Amino acid sequence: MTNVTCDVLVIGSGAAGATIAATLAESTNLSVVLVEKGAYYGAEFFNQRELDMMTLLAENGARSTADGAIPVAGGECVGGGTTVNYALSFDPIPAVWRGWRQQYGLKGFSFDATSNDYGVSGLNLPAVLRDVRTRCSVHEPADAEVNDNNWLFAEGCRRLGVSARKFELNMRGCIGCGFCGQGCAYDAKRGTMVTYLQDALQKGVRLIHHCSIDEVRLVRSQRGMHAVGASGAVTPTKPGSRSNTTAPGPVTIQANLVIVSAGAIESPALLQRSRVPDPFDRIGRGLVLHPSLPIAGIFDHKLVNYRGITGSYYSDHFYADHGFMLECLFDHPIDAAIALPGFGVEHFELMRQYDSLAGFGAMLVDTPSDGNRVSWSADDRKAVITYRLTESDKQKLRYAAARMVQIMFSAGAKEAILTSNEPVTPRGNAIFRAPSEAALCEKLRFAPNETLVSSAHVQASVKMSEDPRTGIADSRGEVHGVQGLMVCDSSAFPTSCGANPMIAIMSLARYQGRRIAGEQSRYFGPNRRSS
Ligand SMILES: Cc1cc2nc3c(=O)[nH]c(=O)nc-3n(C[C@H](O)[C@H](O)[C@H](O)COP(=O)(O)OP(=O)(O)OC[C@H]3O[C@@H](n4cnc5c(N)ncnc54)[C@H](O)[C@@H]3O)c2cc1C
Repeated sequence: MTNVTCDVLVIGSGAAGATIAATLAESTNLSVVLVEKGAYYGAEFFNQRELDMMTLLAENGARSTADGAIPVAGGECVGGGTTVNYALSFDPIPAVWRGWRQQYGLKGFSFDATSNDYGVSGLNLPAVLRDVRTRCSVHEPADAEVNDNNWLFAEGCRRLGVSARKFELNMRGCIGCGFCGQGCAYDAKRGTMVTYLQDALQKGVRLIHHCSIDEVRLVRSQRGMHAVGASGAVTPTKPGSRSNTTAPGPVTIQANLVIVSAGAIESPALLQRSRVPDPFDRIGRGLVLHPSLPIAGIFDHKLVNYRGITGSYYSDHFYADHGFMLECLFDHPIDAAIALPGFGVEHFELMRQYDSLAGFGAMLVDTPSDGNRVSWSADDRKAVITYRLTESDKQKLRYAAARMVQIMFSAGAKEAILTSNEPVTPRGNAIFRAPSEAALCEKLRFAPNETLVSSAHVQASVKMSEDPRTGIADSRGEVHGVQGLMVCDSSAFPTSCGANPMIAIMSLARYQGRRIAGEQSRYFGPNRRSS
C-alpha cells in the first residue's frame, strides 16, 4: 500500500484536471497530486496506426451507450480528451453562461474584463480565456493549411448561400500529417499533455498515472461531511508509457481538497460509488452528448482527405434557429468502415471508393433530459450510459441531414451517404443520388443501431447549480453538503456549453484554480498565502 499526503488531489489529467493542477501550482505553495487512470504516452508513442492508438481511448475505443447505439468517445491517457481530439477551439459563449446564471443561479463567471469575481484580483472569464488561448496557441489556420475535404465543404456551403468559416485550432507548427485523432506525433497539437501538464510538473506537481481512483473517502464529523482524500490502485505501466512515480498496488491519498476532474462519464460514476449524498437523485442525470451525424460523399475524382489538418471549416448558419453546427472532419479507414452503412459486398464497394470520399457532420446541441444519465453499475464495475434522442432533437437532426445532403451535392458529390441502414430512399437505403432526394431525410427515424450518431463531447452530468434540487455542486464547484470536495470538468456545466467544449472546460478550470488560489483560507486555514 502506498500512502501519499498532499494539500490538493486532482483526479483526472484531461482538459480540466491538468489545467487546474498547473494553475494551483503556479499561483500557490500548495502541494498538488494529479492522478490519471490512463498511461503517460509521448509523441514518440503515437505511431499513426488507428488500431494501436485505440489504447488512448476509454474502453479501448469501445465505450458506448448501454444499448450499443451511440459510441461515446473519450480520452483515457494523460491529457484525456485533449490528447485525442481534433483541436477545434471555441471560446466560451457569453449567452450560455449568462443563461446558467439565470436558470441555475450561478455566481461569478463574469464576462466583464474588469471584474474581480469572489474578490480575487483580476478574476473573470476574459482573463482566464486569454491565458488558455495563449498557452494553447489558439489561432486560425492559413489558407495553405486547408485540405481538399475542407475546401469542398466550404465551397458546397458557399454555392448554397450557407455561411462557413474557419475553425480556430489549438496548434503550433502543424505539418498536416492528418492524424490529430491518434495523438499528435509532432507535439503540434497543444493539448494539456504538452502545455498545462508540463507547467504543472515543472512547478512540482506529482503525477501518478496508471492510477484509477475507486472512491473519494468521506468522513462525517460534528462539522458535517467532508472529503479527506481518495483511494484506488496503480496498475503496472503499459508498454510505451513513460515511467511512473509510484509502484503498482493499492494507493491511498490524503488531501484537504479533492477535485474530481474525471470527465462527464467517470466523474458521476466516481461520486456514486463514493456514496456522495444525492438526496434529489441528480448525480449523472441530464447528461448531454452533442450527438453527431456524419455524411460521406462519393466524388468522381481522387481526394487525399486523410492528409492535412482534419478540421478547418465549419458552419454555424443553422445554429441560432436549429441548434446544430456543421463541422468538417474526416475518418481514417477503420472509423470510416464503422460509420459507413451496409453489409458485405455493399459495404465493401463503399470502402473501395475510400480515396474518392469526402465527409463532414452535424453536431447537435442536445436538449437535457433527466432520463439521459450515467449510473455506476457495481455488478459490471462500469459506468452505464443511458441515452435516447428526444423527439425535438430527432427533428433537428432530420433537418440537418437534409441540409447536409444538399451541401454534399453542391460540393460536387455524385452520391451522398448518411450513416444509416434505414430505408429512406426508393432504393431501400440512405444513399442519395440527387439533391432533390434531400427531402427524404424526413423519413429518418433515428432508430437505435440503425442510424449512427456518435458522441465525443459528454457534458453536464454533475451540474453546477446554487439549488441542490437542480445541481450537485455550487458555483465554486463545491459539492453540496460535502466540504473539501469539488467537481471541475465538463460534467460541471449545467447544460451543453453550446460548442465544442475543450476551451470552455479549460477556462472553467483556470478560473476555479485562480479562485482557489485567492480563497486559500476557505480550504486550508487562515495562514496560507499565494506564492
Ligand atoms: C475523439 C475526440 C475528439 C474531440 N474533438 C474535440 C475538438 O476538436 N474540440 C473540442 O473542443 N473538444 C473536442 N473533444 C472533446 C474534448 O476533448 C473533451 O470535452 C474534454 O477533453 C473533456 O475534458 P474533461 O476534463 O471533462 O475530461 P477528459 O479530458 O476526458 O479527462 C478526464 C480524465 O480523467 C481520467 N479518469 C477517469 N476516471 C478516472 C479515475 N477513476 N481515476 C483517475 N483518472 C480518471 C480519464 O482517463 C481522463 O484522462 C473531443 C473528444 C474526443 C474523445
